Amino acid sequence: MIVEAKTLKDGTVANKYETHLECDNCGMNVDAEEYASGTCSDCGEPWNEKRHMIIHVTSIPMSGQSS
Ligand SMILES: [Zn+2]
Repeated sequence: MIVEAKTLKDGTVANKYETHLECDNCGMNVDAEEYASGTCSDCGEPWNEKRHMIIHVTSIPMSGQSS
């Protein structure tokens, strides 16, 4: 799941980021069905929550920045 960068109301920029959920036992991605059931269908074990968050540092041109 990728969340696009956006500018918040207070003017701060939230960087684009990507969340990634995988089974801690076998390393396979946890899909929506497995997420709902709590059991990894790849290894049959309950997957442990193991989140990765990858921050994409964006270099958005500061357009609209006028003096
Ligand atoms: Zn697994």
